[in-house]
Amino acid sequence: MVVVMQPGATGAEIELVCQTIEEHGLEVLRMPGNVMAIGIPSAIPPDLRDPLQQKLEILPGVSKVTQVSRSYKLASREFHPSDTVVTVGGVSFGGPTIQVIAGPCSIESYEQLKAAATAVRSAGATVLRGGAFKPRTSPYAFQGLAVEGLQIMKQVGEEVGIRTISEVMSPEMVGVVAEHVDILQIGARSMQNFPLLIEAGKSDHPVMLKRGPSATIDEFLLAAEYLLSHGNSKVLLCERGVHPLDRGYTRNTLDLSAVPVLKHHSHLPVVVDPSHGTGFARYVPAMSCAAVAAGADALMIEVHPDPRHALSDAAQALTSEGFADLMKRLQAFAAAVGRPLSGTERYAAAN
Ligand code: PEP
Ligand code: MN
Repeated sequence: MVVVMQPGATGAEIELVCQTIEEHGLEVLRMPGNVMAIGIPSAIPPDLRDPLQQKLEILPGVSKVTQVSRSYKLASREFHPSDTVVTVGGVSFGGPTIQVIAGPCSIESYEQLKAAATAVRSAGATVLRGGAFKPRTSPYAFQGLAVEGLQIMKQVGEEVGIRTISEVMSPEMVGVVAEHVDILQIGARSMQNFPLLIEAGKSDHPVMLKRGPSATIDEFLLAAEYLLSHGNSKVLLCERGVHPLDRGYTRNTLDLSAVPVLKHHSHLPVVVDPSHGTGFARYVPAMSCAAVAAGADALMIEVHPDPRHALSDAAQALTSEGFADLMKRLQAFAAAVGRPLSGTERYAAAN
């Protein structure tokens, strides 16, 4: 159960709500924005739910009391029935427009990122991706340019006029990454790095949380709940594939059924990453179209000006031309679901 207080609720009114809950032997979790979650860690006995809700609803200063049947609360649609729209620098996720985030796996140099940014922006992408801190399976693989990479990202983002996203891997780096990019990315391997989630939850920056390779939907949404419960309401969920059945054929298994499931159970915008989801550039277009058809709010696609020489994830990177072709192809799928595609107006103007 979640109790939302009216904006001007007084300390005494909040105290009375807490007291009423505690009198029933239940614990209260106070969250930012004068929201209280009840029944943590144990469930509220079923016969107490309706009477308690009625009691709380009539207390002074209470705006809304919602019963939430899931273990995640703030991430649930029961708590927040309408879609959440996360807007960053004029780019809205979760609204009508399907946004496209694109760029290289890793930031390798100013020239590489500038070429990628120029190409993806002119094809319609609204956010530039690029990793500066790379979570690599092998310690011998390219680890990223770290802060130097972030500086390149900031400069290129400003020069090209495109929003930016980059991964943060540790709680201590949240502030530094946030100084350089518009959206923080929490990678699949970090989905349950709880100190990182807590720190990113305290940030004002939007956070795109990627689903862990073996995470269930509950685990994924509970990780999002960490961000929300620490005060950050600007959360994007990203499906990027789960451990594959057939590693020789695809890097991961892109779980597209997660898209309607997440949209049903949560109000948060859903992004699909078909690049890490398949691991091969040739499969990215089909899965991008399928993701749009499935109801994704955004796509994240790896694009490199020269994939053969990419320092990471070369096999899954689209060329700049391949990305422009895909954006053309996606128009029809976006139109079929009645949504405009990222950068459509700019794209139309360029043709
Ligand atoms: C990435 O998007 O840069 C990345 C490393 O992906 P994931 O965390 O999904 O493996
Ligand atoms: Mn990558």
